[in-house]
Amino acid sequence: MPAILDDISAEILDLKKQLGATILAHYYQDGEIQALADVTGDSLKLAREATKVDSPVIVFCGVLFMAETAKMLNPSKTVLLPDLQAGCSLVDACPAEKLARYQEMLRINGRKFQTVTYINSSAKVKALSDWVVTSGNALEVVKEKVPAGYEILFVPDKHLGRYLQEVTGREMILWDGSCMVHEIFSVHDLLKQKKEHPKAKTIAHPECPKNILELADFVGGTEAMVKHVGTYKEPTEFLVATEANMMWEMQRKHPQHTYLGVPGITCACNKCPHMARNTLEKVRDCMKNRSPEITWQPEFDRAKEVLARSLLNPPLSAPVHPHGD
Ligand code: SF4
Repeated sequence: MPAILDDISAEILDLKKQLGATILAHYYQDGEIQALADVTGDSLKLAREATKVDSPVIVFCGVLFMAETAKMLNPSKTVLLPDLQAGCSLVDACPAEKLARYQEMLRINGRKFQTVTYINSSAKVKALSDWVVTSGNALEVVKEKVPAGYEILFVPDKHLGRYLQEVTGREMILWDGSCMVHEIFSVHDLLKQKKEHPKAKTIAHPECPKNILELADFVGGTEAMVKHVGTYKEPTEFLVATEANMMWEMQRKHPQHTYLGVPGITCACNKCPHMARNTLEKVRDCMKNRSPEITWQPEFDRAKEVLARSLLNPPLSAPVHPHGD
């Protein structure tokens, strides 16, 4: 690590002690940020870990909807996000007002449905939902929680929804949203890579379009991918169709393998530009300034209930006072 980054990392560790902070970092963050975190994980793991934090401050290295989720699930904590502009193309694809109008139209037409929402959504959208899922628990919720006889309005990721529809056989109405990173994997380049590495196994995230999933040996959410590569004992080559920083965690946990990212159509690395807004400098500065902070919003009350019964087992029971006493 260059000396300047070393200095910033040391400052962050110092501030962490002063503030009593726990750093949670998503697998899509740069390795240098993940290296400083107390916990790394996918959305599901981080949401669950957020409920266990007992230090007064959570520094969430991820995007806005994730930090909001941490706040909703552990409301008495100060939740800091290094860059408030770290958004998500899936959140942008599903404005709450548009979803509410669409749900109303379905009701007027006598459709019996429940709304299942991918966690990559705003708190207002979560508040309009029956269930919130991540790529790690979506199958379980669709199979076991949505009562038979109900259609599923799945928002906002059409690729994940289509995948779930195929695997579970449930009737779904799919919202037209997609992840800007997973959407652009290049089939042409993947086929070329497969030719160059004939023994390699291809693993893909279900947010990828169907033409990529059809070429994959394994399809699974973020945490499932890490577990899957761990089942190979012999050194193996993997072609990885998901956000490129995921390979950092795979390399750390299972260093016997070789990981090759599947390139995107528009760039060779497929890194999420929203996640990339968080830098070591911004992590340090948000701790220094105790800002930007995620503050409680009116829609958090209802969204929190949906989150808790969807993701936590057992769910959070008594409502927690949002502002502490
Ligand atoms: S990788 Fe895609 S789904 Fe994840 S935060 Fe970035 S834009 Fe959103």
